[in-house]
Amino acid sequence: MAALTRLLKPSSSSSISFLLKRSVSTTTAVVSEVESQHHQRPNFSDPKGSRSFQWVFLGCPGVGKGTYASRLSTLLGVPHIATGDLVREELSSSGPLSRQLAEIVNQGKLVSDEIIFNLLSKRLEAGESKGESGFILDGFPRTIRQAEILDDVTEIDLVVNLKLREDVLVEKCLGRRICSQCGKGFNVASINAKEENGRPAMSMAPLLPPSHCATKLITRADDTEQVVKERLRVYQEKSQPVEDFYRVQGKLMEFDLPGGIPESWPKLLEALNLEDYEVKRSAVA
Ligand code: AMP
Repeated sequence: MAALTRLLKPSSSSSISFLLKRSVSTTTAVVSEVESQHHQRPNFSDPKGSRSFQWVFLGCPGVGKGTYASRLSTLLGVPHIATGDLVREELSSSGPLSRQLAEIVNQGKLVSDEIIFNLLSKRLEAGESKGESGFILDGFPRTIRQAEILDDVTEIDLVVNLKLREDVLVEKCLGRRICSQCGKGFNVASINAKEENGRPAMSMAPLLPPSHCATKLITRADDTEQVVKERLRVYQEKSQPVEDFYRVQGKLMEFDLPGGIPESWPKLLEALNLEDYEVKRSAVA
């Protein structure tokens, strides 16, 4: 726990602005520069000073990264940045990338690292201009290359790896709904997975929308059974190695979700040593 508490303390850095400085007009330039200096890494050590939390959430599609990252972002006062949301925003625009992205995303494949870095850099830049600092990244990094580049431009304090049994992941993805008006996420699945092969039984109540959202629910185009299974396969192939990347750095905190939000949220706060964070924060304010 001591090691974790140490990780929880924001360390000195102004890394977001550094990442932004690196985000020159095209992301390819950032990528190729980092690659060309592979054997002689530039000195990215940050100036002294204090900065906000810089955390990453890893985990399979449907595990609940968005739900818990968003709750923690409110608690810690840092932005929750989900690259999947950035991709969907781009998809819903009539920009030149839109059609190309739809094809990739709807097949459950990963978007190129260059596109993701471009979207992320723009999001960070917009945030910084509003005075944001720190972040909880959700759905990024998803490849070793993304993790290496992120590591080159800034320091990540903690990586939370959420875990859930695969049959439950699929059910959760298929039950996922979004309110097309307010953008809030819900889940209509009522999960009752039996104990099986040493895996404990698990129940999750549906997260139903209020009546004003109920008539406006939509399903993500990539939440079909076939695409979810492909996304899980892609996760094992491309994203699981990212867990090891952070494990060897001693930054990975594994968290097996014990059930739905009512069971998992207090346990997650406990694992993060944040049970009384809100109380302490309001006492200081
Ligand atoms: P998510 O909402 O995180 O499940 O992301 C939805 C889709 O966006 C993914 O299936 C990918 O096609 C794409 N995507 C999101 N984040 C990344 C990333 N870091 N790298 C590559 N593709 C991504």
